[in-house]
Amino acid sequence: MNTISLVDDKNAFLNYLSQMASVNDLSKAAIDFLIPLLNARHGSLYINNPFTEKNKLIYQTNAHKPRPMPAPKSFAILYENGQAIIPLMDDQTLLGYMVFEGLQEDQQPLPGLEIIKFTLPFLALKMKGLLDKETLEHKLRVINQHQLSYELSPDGYLVDISCALANALGYERHELIGKLPNFLNTHDNDDANAMEAQIFKKDGSQIWVKTDIVPAKDIWGDDSGRKICFQQNISREKQIEEMAIRDDLTKLYNRRFFNQVFAKQIDNAIRNHNYLAFMIIDIDNFKKYNDTYGHQEGDRVLALVAKTIASAYKRKGDYSFRLGGEEFGVICNVTHPEDAEVLANYCRNAILELAIPHTGNPDFKLVTISTGLVIIDGANLLDANEIYKTADIALYEAKSSGRNCVKVAGQEDDIELF
Ligand code: GH3
Ligand code: MG
Ligand code: MG
Repeated sequence: MNTISLVDDKNAFLNYLSQMASVNDLSKAAIDFLIPLLNARHGSLYINNPFTEKNKLIYQTNAHKPRPMPAPKSFAILYENGQAIIPLMDDQTLLGYMVFEGLQEDQQPLPGLEIIKFTLPFLALKMKGLLDKETLEHKLRVINQHQLSYELSPDGYLVDISCALANALGYERHELIGKLPNFLNTHDNDDANAMEAQIFKKDGSQIWVKTDIVPAKDIWGDDSGRKICFQQNISREKQIEEMAIRDDLTKLYNRRFFNQVFAKQIDNAIRNHNYLAFMIIDIDNFKKYNDTYGHQEGDRVLALVAKTIASAYKRKGDYSFRLGGEEFGVICNVTHPEDAEVLANYCRNAILELAIPHTGNPDFKLVTISTGLVIIDGANLLDANEIYKTADIALYEAKSSGRNCVKVAGQEDDIELF
């Protein structure tokens, strides 16, 4: 049996142990080779579990159930009552221990003690190395399964992606590695260390993520040019945030959000010398609509009108709000001031074209809207409240000039001379 011939040669035994690539293999190799050497009947090996700090049985011979053994307290080999306990020590730390049973009482001193003493430091060192390696690999595996992360090469290609992120996006890792990460909405702003963005899943749906980008150093501490990006799925938070700023019935932004963004949008437009259009849109004779068709039908119309407004103003930077009741607000950037009125009339016409019967709306007999429009430019001296009031006055004018029309504040086109 090669076991015997190996243990005859200390160096061959060390060489054999050195080839073991896992804690389990090393444990088995050590016990199986030491049993014949010690002339023992059974052997087992325990490791101090680095996660629980309890002793864990790693290997035992022949399904033998060893008696529970107290862990040894010192480096010394304990030998009594036909049993030997051999500690595996790394410096002053107990890594684990081997227990051999069924030794012959009369064999004193222990046979093979020389070889055991010779190989024990190497065995402990090798065990420590494998334990550290397996512990680290385990931790990396857990991180890989739970942490959304990816790594970019200096030229922006995906060199690695965690299983967690690939899974969350509905991909296999190999489908993504080596590609340009367009699916992650490439981060073109290098200055930002953390950002929130919507990223695409394989099925075309999106999730909200917050990304922290860390420049990766190499093992010598030099900048590698790579970036490691850590992400958090913030879809749930975003959903809650959205719910707080949206109106339930129409899904447009609500009055609260309007109050948050209106003044900001005005400031931005003035600072950037853009034209900003603000309008208040109100459904004509809507009280009569409810009276005729019922409140529930009224709600349905409200949702339909809201949807039509939102699709008329859906460019980047456009906002549609339900300001209250059957009244809506729109903020949109325009290149030329006259575009605002054209757009407002386009929207008014789109509502008319819905052709929703409304017998209580005289002249039209269909659901119509009236719009009060204000165009804000660099010369604007009014604050948000005053702009709102101006739009409201323009809306009042639209109502008094027969409804289903757009009135632009400051345009004296309907002065009656007689
Ligand atoms: P005008 O053309 O002058 O705007 O007339 P109007 O009847 O639309 O104006 P008024 O302000 O007198 O009435 C608004 C009506 O809108 C009153 C209310 O019944 C209706 N309304 C407000 N909120 C809701 C809602 O959430 N659902 C429904 N179905 N109706 C609503
Ligand atoms: Mg109304
Ligand atoms: Mg109203």
